[in-house]
Amino acid sequence: MEMLNSIKKTVGGEGKPTQVATEKKMEATMEAKPVANKIKLGHVHLSGCTGCLVSTADNNLGFIKILDNYADLVYSLTLADVRHVPEMDVALVEGSVCIQDHESVEEIRETREKAKIVVALGSCACYGNITRFSRGGQHNQPQHESFLPIGDLIDVDVYIPGCPPSPELIRNVAVMAYLLLEGDEDQKALAGKYLKPLMDLAKRGTSACFCDLMTEVINQGLCMGCGTCAAACPVRAITHEFGKPQGERDLCIKCGSCYGACPRSFFNFEVIDEFEDISEIIAEALK
Ligand code: SF4
Ligand code: SF4
Repeated sequence: MEMLNSIKKTVGGEGKPTQVATEKKMEATMEAKPVANKIKLGHVHLSGCTGCLVSTADNNLGFIKILDNYADLVYSLTLADVRHVPEMDVALVEGSVCIQDHESVEEIRETREKAKIVVALGSCACYGNITRFSRGGQHNQPQHESFLPIGDLIDVDVYIPGCPPSPELIRNVAVMAYLLLEGDEDQKALAGKYLKPLMDLAKRGTSACFCDLMTEVINQGLCMGCGTCAAACPVRAITHEFGKPQGERDLCIKCGSCYGACPRSFFNFEVIDEFEDISEIIAEALK
């Protein structure tokens, strides 16, 4: 609880004025608020559909709150007029990399050089997703045929899988990245615990499909038939037969959402045990 209180002080909560008049004054001076302790956040758009950025914005006022209090958006070709990749604390990279497109290859390499933490945002960046099916031959760049997840070209620190990734997970990673970089030792430890499973996912590899459930969950005797994988699949490629998942592999777009959502895949009990505290911290941060 002591740690929770200290975290609340950093992200808001107990340290925040509660009087309405004071809040109004804070709002009025928001623009003038020093930003020295904000982290530098960037959105790098490669071969993606911008749906991951839309999902980020789907945090609604939570997204604005993050930009007001915790992060400056220093790069986003969709949202800001900054033309070249700057130094960043956290780069949210959306989309895979077309290796016949020189500029995309250069941009992902430059991102790795300039960002402290590289996050693969969404399944195209993590696993290739729908771009795995690219075969080239289309007007007006028929030679653009090979698309790779960013982890095949650079080291990636954190995965946020999903097509689209959930707004809540993006929000949580942003708040935890802030605590990791700007928090005290306890906060850094908590953020490290929270991010570890998503970092482990990044180390695990760059390919995904329904088969992951077969080889790493069902075949290992770990499946409990909960149905979370079917609920997570964006294309309804999973049904349940006799209490076990059944995949329609011609429908599967190789997004990795099912394995990412399965409670028997990569979950970390250190995080689950602190679920209530973590939820409270994030809620306080976004009040
Ligand atoms: S989410 Fe995992 S444990 Fe649950 S039914 Fe699917 S494979 Fe089994
Ligand atoms: S089965 Fe569905 S959730 Fe799993 S990888 Fe394929 S498309 Fe994604």
